[in-house]
Amino acid sequence: MKTVYLDNAATTQLRPEVVAEMAKVLRDDYGNPSSTHSIGRHAKSVIELSRKSIAANLGCSAQEIIFTSGATEANNWIIKSAISDFKVERIITSKIEHHAVLETVEHLGQEYSIDVQFVNVKPSGEIDLTHLVNLLSENTPTLVSLMHVNNEVGTVLDLEKVGNLCKQYGAYFHSDTVQSIGKTEFNFKELPVDFAVASAHKFHGPKGVGFAYIRKGLLVNPMFFGGEQEKGIRPGTESVHNISGMAKALELSYSNLESERSQITGLKKYAIELLENNFGPIKVNGSAKDGFYNILNVCLPMDEQKTIMILFHLDMKGIAVSRGSACQSGSAKPSHVLAEMLSDEDIRKPSLRISFSHYNSAADIDALVEALKTV
Ligand code: PLP
Repeated sequence: MKTVYLDNAATTQLRPEVVAEMAKVLRDDYGNPSSTHSIGRHAKSVIELSRKSIAANLGCSAQEIIFTSGATEANNWIIKSAISDFKVERIITSKIEHHAVLETVEHLGQEYSIDVQFVNVKPSGEIDLTHLVNLLSENTPTLVSLMHVNNEVGTVLDLEKVGNLCKQYGAYFHSDTVQSIGKTEFNFKELPVDFAVASAHKFHGPKGVGFAYIRKGLLVNPMFFGGEQEKGIRPGTESVHNISGMAKALELSYSNLESERSQITGLKKYAIELLENNFGPIKVNGSAKDGFYNILNVCLPMDEQKTIMILFHLDMKGIAVSRGSACQSGSAKPSHVLAEMLSDEDIRKPSLRISFSHYNSAADIDALVEALKTV
């Protein structure tokens, strides 16, 4: 059975060049980067060249990139550091963040008795910036943590606008940029963002590796202890092959960005048209017009009873899509993101997250729509 993979917001297929790069490093660069002999120094240089390449692609300096096991770790670390190193007394976030932020804020907020405030979310999935300004105008040391591109509905936050507001009110600004790094241009030198995070497996790189971007001058303490790696703030022997695979994946994402973005934008448009031709007007959760180009979340005009069955049915036909974030796909619980945005009636209807990559074609969308017709 041919499989159709339309769940690229959950994870992505590795590029063959990334696999080749990682295999080369695993085979040839096996030294411990902390060893002083040439084999170790060679592995260390693979890491530092990767860091430089990532920084060059994102318009920041290499020292602002700290490698981690992924974005969950990086989000936890930054939020913890804002509380214990930067002494924030309040965190402003939203209820549509990924659980890697939401649960961290909840836990740490309780542990450190930090005031947690949620900025309002509009029915379109956008953050209510007027409410954000109201909250910010209270004079309290604050971290604002708001994601760039929502992983379930693809709504986009204006990083520049929010970053400037944070600056104006003296708040630190952290953004979970997992869904956008590698998929849109960044120039951190110009962007008023203090902390950002990335995860390689979202841009056709390996799993288990990512990084924190920490603006120069912000001195964070380690989350754990036991080594001098990553300037001593993220100790542990580096995953050299993963780091070099991530750098390769990011380099290829940016060198192919224009053509791949235009191909994926066309696929999303085609998917909306085909769904409408077959099912009548469909409701796009979030905003069809302004939503990020590789994520489409649709509320299908189908019977409520079909909600639970639909993913199972598609899976039987070899089609991988999801109802929301991968960690909750198997659950019958409605998504916490859609719960913030939709009416009680719409939340019971089947919604699907279809997320694309350059590996998809129009034939994949044809197959999805054909399968949906038989649900
Ligand atoms: N933040 C967002 C927006 C995500 O989509 C994900 C991935 O599911 C994460 C954080 C977690 O990233 P990682 O898999 O690297 O821990």
